[in-house]
Amino acid sequence: MIPIINQIKKSKNILVASHSDPDGDAVSSLLAMGLTLIYLGKKTTLYNYSSIPAVYRFLPSVECIIDYIGPSNGYDTAMILDCGDISRVGPASENISRIPVVINVDHHVSNTGFGDLQLVDPDACSTAEIVYRIIKALKIRIDRGIATSIYTGILTDTGSFRFSNTNQAAFAISQEMTELGVEPYNVAQQVFGTYSLERIKLLNLALDSLEISENGKLSIMTVTNAMFDFTETQPEDVDGMINYARRIQDVKVAALIQEQGNGRPRSENKRRFHVSLRSDGSVDVAAIAGAFGGGGHPSAAGFQAETSLVQLKSDIITLAQNL
Ligand code: 5GP
Ligand code: MN
Repeated sequence: MIPIINQIKKSKNILVASHSDPDGDAVSSLLAMGLTLIYLGKKTTLYNYSSIPAVYRFLPSVECIIDYIGPSNGYDTAMILDCGDISRVGPASENISRIPVVINVDHHVSNTGFGDLQLVDPDACSTAEIVYRIIKALKIRIDRGIATSIYTGILTDTGSFRFSNTNQAAFAISQEMTELGVEPYNVAQQVFGTYSLERIKLLNLALDSLEISENGKLSIMTVTNAMFDFTETQPEDVDGMINYARRIQDVKVAALIQEQGNGRPRSENKRRFHVSLRSDGSVDVAAIAGAFGGGGHPSAAGFQAETSLVQLKSDIITLAQNL
């Protein structure tokens, strides 16, 4: 922690970034860390490659996040948040790697240890928890805006205090954030309370796509570009749907196959997919994702694949034999 605090204090021009296709923790950590650096008087750029999902656009100062950075902007330090691997930042990761000091702040067990300074704690419930510790070490006052972000990061990454990463700190920090003015009901309404009709129609198709392995221990849900087109939805609308596949009785591992990219694939055998994996806690899906070139946490992980849908499903269903 101390080398990171020293580096932040002596830097003048900092880039803060989190993973593309951001979840609540990625957006919240970015905002909480970025606002803290701004309060410290640092020239600060908040970057995320993807557009911010609608449900997180209520977060204070979210409009400060930009989605483009040039190749050289004179940054002396980069803080990379919630990324197990620097490539998770997106296409800018190569340029970011060249920034003189790269600080890696994360809570994924599969973290590659990239960067010059690391603060990686797999026992942290969320990256927001680690950002909270950094803010405390910097002795910066947490205002209501930062508090709302930290609370939202913890709330979303713990699945509303239900997932196995829910720890004592999740409650202790959330308690402190509510003392600082966070309104849990308001955050819950923003994040979970309202779904567009389009999203419900996509959920209908996603539920209809469910397939279960012969032994009943593995489930697969599939969302294709055709489904996005038909329901006029976006990739962000898939957020949370995998939990339906995971909650099925006797299922140990749930997979959600999500087609990537717009437009027609180059060929049926070269369709691009992201696969999310969730387990009931008895299976290490980070290890399974690792075997496919991805990573994550023991009970929530993912990987990318370029193949045909038939082949991908067959590769995944094979996993059921070892469950
Ligand atoms: P999700 O399924 O929500 O996209 O991701 C679940 C967890 O796995 C997250 O913690 C995420 O960071 C990690 N993860 C998802 N996809 C990838 C991937 O392609 N590579 C790596 N290293 N981690 C991933
Ligand atoms: Mn996270």
